[in-house]
Amino acid sequence: MEAWREQLKNQVNTLEKLEEFIHVTPEERAAIQALKGTRWGTTPHYANLMDKEDPACPIRRQVIPSQSELANNFGMEGYLIWKENRSTAERRPDAIARQYRDRIAFAVTQVCGIYCRHCFRRELTIAKDLKLRLDIDEGLAWIREHPEIRDVLITGGDPFLLGDDDIAYVIDQLRAIPHIEMIRFGTRLPVVLPQRFTPALLDRLRGYHRVPIWINTQCNHPKELTEETARVVYDLLTCGINVGNQAVLLKGINDNVAVFRALHQKLLNIRVRPYYLFYCEPAPGTDHFRTPLHKGAELIRDALRGHTTGLAQPLYVVATNIGKIPITLDDRLIMREGKKYVLTNYEGRTTELDAID
Ligand code: SF4
Repeated sequence: MEAWREQLKNQVNTLEKLEEFIHVTPEERAAIQALKGTRWGTTPHYANLMDKEDPACPIRRQVIPSQSELANNFGMEGYLIWKENRSTAERRPDAIARQYRDRIAFAVTQVCGIYCRHCFRRELTIAKDLKLRLDIDEGLAWIREHPEIRDVLITGGDPFLLGDDDIAYVIDQLRAIPHIEMIRFGTRLPVVLPQRFTPALLDRLRGYHRVPIWINTQCNHPKELTEETARVVYDLLTCGINVGNQAVLLKGINDNVAVFRALHQKLLNIRVRPYYLFYCEPAPGTDHFRTPLHKGAELIRDALRGHTTGLAQPLYVVATNIGKIPITLDDRLIMREGKKYVLTNYEGRTTELDAID
């Protein structure tokens, strides 16, 4: 059996299996019991990164259920329906989510390599309350009929959990549509199941094409970046596929300056371009991961801008039903004084440029 299928077969999704990796605390044990009936679990690869003794370990907190998920003060019931505009007048197959005129998200599966407790799709992936019919051919037919769509984001769940033939089928079908200019994949597998990127799959992905493939992964803490992940990123780049990162701002995991800077520097070190930092979205059961809105902008200011390589800076956004809204604290950086612009750098030093009217 291929190593990645072995990882999935041995998914760590019971208390007994989890105890092979860490000393489970009474709180973790109680939460697993209390959240019975919801999906949880991780690949052995990711579980191996857990700190055996520390329940605050950033890997543990992202995948082990917590009783805090039951205290839902700010989470929005029916969040995914709202976020993906599923109750608006336009009729679309369940597989298609739309916030923009020229691009859509195309969900092809609802299973994942790990079940992130902060997931904004958790009503679908974890709670299983939301039932969607993710029919690939129905989605493809809708895309063919909509010439305004030029960019398709293939998502899930995790789209790379489909078999090689299915992945190649979706790519080939999309490439055959004249109005499609680019294909993107959103996947956590380079981080949580790097074994998935086998030579056979890479052969299906590689090459120069009219319609390129872009991949964005999700890494939220430097501890998640292993040698195996670095290798996968390199392999994907040699196939002609750029790899970006979409981190989620998570309280107690990456909301401090040192971790945040280390994460973004390490991403560049393994050739991943930081793309977005997402504000943690108000899906039900995620209160304990959420920070004040300005926190992400502060972190970019205090950890990255001017403090390290410019390529390390993601765009901080709130994802909403009307698209992504960028959040910055930069209004004060450019001031107009008479015929001059006064520009302030990350240390508070100023310089001037002539103003143009
Ligand atoms: S892998 Fe993605 S879709 Fe799956 S649980 Fe994590 S964030 Fe959600």
